[in-house]
Amino acid sequence: MKQDSLAPRFPVKNHPSPTSPEQRASLIADPGFGRIFTDHMASIRYSDTEGWHDGKITPRTQLSLDPATAVLHYAQEIFEGMKAYRLSDGSMALFRPEANAKRFNESARRMAMAQLPEEMFIESIKALVRTDIDWFPTVEGGAIYIRPFMFASEVFLGVKPSSEYQYLVIASPVGGYFKSGAPAIKVWSSQHYTRAAPGGTGAAKCGGNYAASLIAQAEATKHGCDQVVFLDAVERRYVEELGGMNLFFLFEDGRIVTPPLGGTILPGITRDSIITLAKEAGLSVSEELYSIQQWEDDAKSGKLTETFACGTAAVVTPVGKVASQNGEFTIGAGGPGQVTEKLKNQLVAIQRGEAEDRHGWVRRID
Ligand SMILES: *Cc1c(COP(=O)(O)O)cnc(C)c1O
Repeated sequence: MKQDSLAPRFPVKNHPSPTSPEQRASLIADPGFGRIFTDHMASIRYSDTEGWHDGKITPRTQLSLDPATAVLHYAQEIFEGMKAYRLSDGSMALFRPEANAKRFNESARRMAMAQLPEEMFIESIKALVRTDIDWFPTVEGGAIYIRPFMFASEVFLGVKPSSEYQYLVIASPVGGYFKSGAPAIKVWSSQHYTRAAPGGTGAAKCGGNYAASLIAQAEATKHGCDQVVFLDAVERRYVEELGGMNLFFLFEDGRIVTPPLGGTILPGITRDSIITLAKEAGLSVSEELYSIQQWEDDAKSGKLTETFACGTAAVVTPVGKVASQNGEFTIGAGGPGQVTEKLKNQLVAIQRGEAEDRHGWVRRID
């Protein structure tokens, strides 16, 4: 294969005993989410003395870590989440991978980690997808979910930024979320726990944010809810986001509101894409603070007609009910709304090469 002379090369060491075609076929016919993995992984190492080196594709295998490896103690770790899609012409593509590469480095900067050249990030993913292309799921709406991540690999218990990092990419065939009539979720507003404070790590995609959100997620589950909706940590009034998805509020007059980025909200690439598509559809989008009380009042008066959450994994998910210690309220009829469905379908059509890609978001893997 001809390669751009500037693009980093990833030598491929093939798996000595790959999954048999029969077993693979049965796995990718019903993959679920994050439960099965392809045969290979990408890796690159970093040290302060050598810089980035040893980029390669190898069989996916267990890691061997010294018990004093820094990440196990101080959680210096970041990740990304993206998907490889199959376009209607049969070729494979990534959606806005440059945005993931850029965000990965913004997360790295916040966590005092080494930054990875963007072309290395993108090429590592393309090389892995090319190697494991036969793992593309056969279910309707399937994709290969890609998980790049990086952790502090120095063996040292001192509290300081690590001098060594391990970057890895693993891939997981996943099923579709966009069967029509996807159920609306019920969210739990935690009165006690917050996700991110000003000056903290809310805008970084780090494992620690998820670790801190799990107790609130368990509380949500206990109350019969699917997800937590987090409020701002200062006033405990303004709606921020779910544990792993951004939020949009739709009004009867065609307005759309989404909470503003400002350090405590993860800047979702789906969020950014939806803002662009909604504006193109003639809706007026504003990034402004929206309180939980206003959310309830607007839902009850009928001014607010729809709410949805969005992110790479589930794309767009309608929110039907909001519950808290003080009771619950329903949005619209409690099911998926029309504008939500329309925006979701538009985004999915672009991702699959079925609609015109006016913004150059789709990057083919050749
Ligand atoms: C990853 C993530 C999102 C969604 O980001 P996308 O780029 O749209 O996938 C939203 N919120 C949090 C907390 C996240 O970690």
